[in-house]
Amino acid sequence: MVAQVIDGKAFAAKVRAQVADQVAKLKEENGITPGLAVVLVGEDPASQVYVRSKGKMTVEVGMNSYEHKLDVDTSEEDLLALVEKLNNDPAVHGILVQLPLPKHLNEDLVINSIDPAKDVDGFHISNVGLLGTGQKSMVPCTPLGCLMMLRDHHGSLSGMDAVVIGRSNIVGKPMAQLLLGDSCTVTIAHSRTKDLPDVVRRADIVVAAVGRPEMVPGDWIKEGATVIDVGINRIDAPEKGEGKNKLVGDVDYASAAARAGAITPVPGGVGPMTIACLLANTLTACCRANKLPEPEGLTA
Ligand code: NAP
Repeated sequence: MVAQVIDGKAFAAKVRAQVADQVAKLKEENGITPGLAVVLVGEDPASQVYVRSKGKMTVEVGMNSYEHKLDVDTSEEDLLALVEKLNNDPAVHGILVQLPLPKHLNEDLVINSIDPAKDVDGFHISNVGLLGTGQKSMVPCTPLGCLMMLRDHHGSLSGMDAVVIGRSNIVGKPMAQLLLGDSCTVTIAHSRTKDLPDVVRRADIVVAAVGRPEMVPGDWIKEGATVIDVGINRIDAPEKGEGKNKLVGDVDYASAAARAGAITPVPGGVGPMTIACLLANTLTACCRANKLPEPEGLTA
């Protein structure tokens, strides 16, 4: 079997276009422009790249983008004061504090100080609880993107066996909740899981969110399964020339694609969906704040 490639880049472009249409409608019919505030503390190079592209895409879909860049030694008090200001700003519908924060700042405290209705990352304890109890919440962007691609590919996921490898709060756990919400039979695997290859071989859907380059080989994949590779790992690529590197996922793409029914590539799979879902969440938050109907197909 040669797997169908699930093109996350194209799918994300479609989601952003859908968001842009809805934003234009909101402006025209209600005079409202959704606004996303992104807070970056320090100068972590990867975070700077993420924040730049988030800002660019926010503006491209017609939303207002507010960037707050703070010194690496910003105090917790000052950061909390900024979050409070954004919580009270009616022009701001979504707030994202870029992680990781410098070590002297308490991430949980900062995230839980965001108004849950504006928590477009879906990391606030209230949103985690709402998702876990099957209630309307803000859903973490990366797992939401994975769910959208799975629904698009399969239609209904009901009754499918899903294995999520990884139990982080930002990917693995919310992914498992979303799959459960869509009536999959869900297994969460992690570093202590026994017989991981056998566990993965049972799965109709495999979501790999580990952070280990090409850890899942093709012979762990059930023939015809759908593979969603969340991993983003930079590895040396001497074949591209001296000192060169490349991005790979947590799945060994070539061998997995030979057995899977469908697979997301890295890059160009889950990655682009994450920012698209951030924009979708900001739109959803804006509609909820203004008691307007939520756009269809952009939330869980
Ligand atoms: P994380 O917090 O480091 O969690 C990794 C998980 O993998 C942990 O639960 C860990 O288990 C598990 N694990 C580690 N080694 C394992 C092994 N040998 N066998 C089975 N499980 C193992 O990572 P994360 O934040 O969830 O991110 C995972 C990957 O996704 C990373 O590559 C990250 O860069 C990528 N990512 C991509 C996007 C995107 O937009 N595409 C967004 C977020 C993250 P224990 O809990 O037992 O330690």
